[in-house]
Amino acid sequence: MSDIFPVVVGICLDAEAIWVGKAPENKDRPVLLSHGAFAVREGLAPLLDLLDEHGVRATFFVPGMTADRYPDAVRLCAARGHEIGSHGYAHLPVHTLTAEQEERELVTGLESLGRITGTRPVTWRSPSWEFSPRTMDLLLRHGVRVSTNYHDALRPYRHMRDGRPLPIVELPVQWHLADAPYFLYGGQVGRVIRPATDAEQVWTEEFDGLYETPGAFYHLTLHVQLIGHPGRLRMLSRHLKHVRGRPRVAFLTSQQAAARVP
Ligand SMILES: [Zn+2]
Repeated sequence: MSDIFPVVVGICLDAEAIWVGKAPENKDRPVLLSHGAFAVREGLAPLLDLLDEHGVRATFFVPGMTADRYPDAVRLCAARGHEIGSHGYAHLPVHTLTAEQEERELVTGLESLGRITGTRPVTWRSPSWEFSPRTMDLLLRHGVRVSTNYHDALRPYRHMRDGRPLPIVELPVQWHLADAPYFLYGGQVGRVIRPATDAEQVWTEEFDGLYETPGAFYHLTLHVQLIGHPGRLRMLSRHLKHVRGRPRVAFLTSQQAAARVP
């Protein structure tokens, strides 16, 4: 049995970019964009406090567009000890882009965060968790070393090509371990708004199962604009208390978790 049970918390700080990325014409819908602005205006401060309270060092994924608009928010996350990962520039789904657009999205996103925090990110999350057939080569070319996108495993693993290891580690994610399927609403997205306890129940039963699975880890995906509401933050606090209550649990940033993969 491993010495620790890794727990990774990946948090998207999308702000308005999520809506502009879904449809460019949304840039002229200030009320819709305000769903995203909530992240910086209200959600971030109490979420950062809650993470401190539970001793969690998370990875914040920030689109370059959001970082350019709210550089102080990004610096604050970094100053509080969290890893800053890239999340594209304009939150565009990469499988819909031309080769040139895709490379520009990746590079401008990485550069923007490098400029603002002084550290070029090595961790990348695709907006909407999609790859194109070109994505892996682009990540290799531009220095990304940690991907948090694939849904195919319970354990972190190294990407391979032609039987050879690549310098990119995957930290697999799952839709049921994300907040968006329970809470994302508005714009073109219509779904039943759920009580926070629905997410808590699924996350807790899955955490308990993963904890007993040899070599597995627990990877939670949050969005500041969705989880940063008072009732949902209370739920998150209860959940993190449950997670912390197990021996061997260690909260790791994405980079720290990836470094454990040979
Ligand atoms: Zn996002």
